Amino acid sequence: MTLITHWIDGRPAQPGGGRTSPVFDPASGEVIAQVGLGTAADVDTAVAAALAAAGPWGEASVARRAGVLFRFRELLVAAADELARLVSREHGKTVPDARGEVARGLEVVEFACGVPSASAGAYSPQAATGVDVFTSREPLGVVAGITPFNFPVMVPLWMSPVAIATGNAFVLKPSERDPSASLLLARLWAQAGLPDGVFSVVQGDREVVDALLTHPDVAAVSFVGSTPVARHVHATASAAGKRVQALGGAKNHGVVLADADLDDAAEHLTAAAFGAAGERCMALSVAVVVDEVADELVARLAVRARAVRVDRGDAAGAEMGPVITAAAKARIEGIVATAAEQGATLVVDGRGVVVPGCEDGFFVGPTIVDHVRPDQDVYREEVFGPVLAVVRVSGLDEAIAVVNANPYGNGTAVFTSSGEAARTFARRVQVGMVGVNVPIPVPVAWHSFGGWKDSLFGESHVYGPEGVRFYTRGKVVTQRWPHRTEAAGASFHFAGDAQR
Ligand code: NAD
Repeated sequence: MTLITHWIDGRPAQPGGGRTSPVFDPASGEVIAQVGLGTAADVDTAVAAALAAAGPWGEASVARRAGVLFRFRELLVAAADELARLVSREHGKTVPDARGEVARGLEVVEFACGVPSASAGAYSPQAATGVDVFTSREPLGVVAGITPFNFPVMVPLWMSPVAIATGNAFVLKPSERDPSASLLLARLWAQAGLPDGVFSVVQGDREVVDALLTHPDVAAVSFVGSTPVARHVHATASAAGKRVQALGGAKNHGVVLADADLDDAAEHLTAAAFGAAGERCMALSVAVVVDEVADELVARLAVRARAVRVDRGDAAGAEMGPVITAAAKARIEGIVATAAEQGATLVVDGRGVVVPGCEDGFFVGPTIVDHVRPDQDVYREEVFGPVLAVVRVSGLDEAIAVVNANPYGNGTAVFTSSGEAARTFARRVQVGMVGVNVPIPVPVAWHSFGGWKDSLFGESHVYGPEGVRFYTRGKVVTQRWPHRTEAAGASFHFAGDAQR
């Protein structure tokens, strides 16, 4: 059986320690590979290679770095289909959806191609008489990225192109559930001409993560995953003196007001709740619906949910694949059972769905639970499966109150035909990314991505301008070039009005 390895110093490297973890085809339930779980010693080896590479790479001209990014972009375009199929096989999402993930990652690569302007500094000539001041952004050295299973291409590409373009060496710890795409990315970076050691992959679990969080030569950590692990990463790496951005879980609300186009809202809510089997941090997992249109909307949602084509991710016409593991399936089905026990109404029940030929796959069908209250488990927990909870409210004010009382603040959307209501919602809602008639408002790459509250620990969002700032630190140079005759004019006092 295939053993999925590390990528260190420009080539595959065997994981030490001997521990492995199975990688499944979630559609069939079969084990298709084993991934080696790295050790703290493997992290030492990878970070040492990265540190040796970071110096010369940070000194390489910005034009040379941009050149590598441009070549990487071309290679990524050419490999998009191969990457998408790899992701679909280990994650389970549909191939077109996986292609979409590659496309969103590609956007960040394109942003990073513009690093000469994105990282340019500022210059103030004659800030004082004969004195010029300029600021620059300089690389940090070795930075680490720890990523979740649900976007094995896109999330590493939220981080690595920006970190690398700004002159850092990047060490990736991908999810052990779908690790193969990380190695294809490593090969593409190498083919693009990136020097050995600037992009590395260390496979593994908590042991590798904790070694990265406390390693003295790792300057910064970017993390994307669940909230409990994000808290741990933020606390541990901050205590070790590192810069940290730790993006956590989510519970995203789609608010439907009485004046919304209900067909449009139902269409978008269905896709945003059940696309990728609900395993997206920006999935709309709660519909907050104004009472007067709730019955009508739920009826439309139910029709659409029952029509979703659940199948293997690589089957033609599939709209939704399986969830990631048997444990995830059991957990999701347990939450649905509890919702019914706690008094919610099961409108569409996706438990027990069977895909012919894939009887052992980890499938859960689209599920809609109505009359959900915020104290019920199906609302309180991040289900991370194809389950849409419907909460009924009296109007816009109550809808905003429900969203703001939730501990998460990743994304939200409002469906309305009123500009005034949309503006009020966008102004008052305590969430990092807001959509107006846009169900999944993932910002384009030249803005930055990030949630609020329990959805992000640390103050920096990822990619875009905030990514450039995160992976660089400021330097300010104040310079003068005195004529010999002026040298005697040094003062013991701070420069004051006389020098202006
Ligand atoms: P996870 O937190 O289980 O794992 C994320 C990473 O942390 C993986 O690389 C994993 O190996 C590692 N890890 C797991 N447990 C750990 C521990 N105890 N100590 C140290 N490291 C550990 O998340 P997941 O299940 O892979 O991904 C799904 C979660 O990610 C969901 O909660 C989802 O909302 C979240 N997510 C958030 C965003 C965002 O932008 N906010 C984006 C994608 C996914």
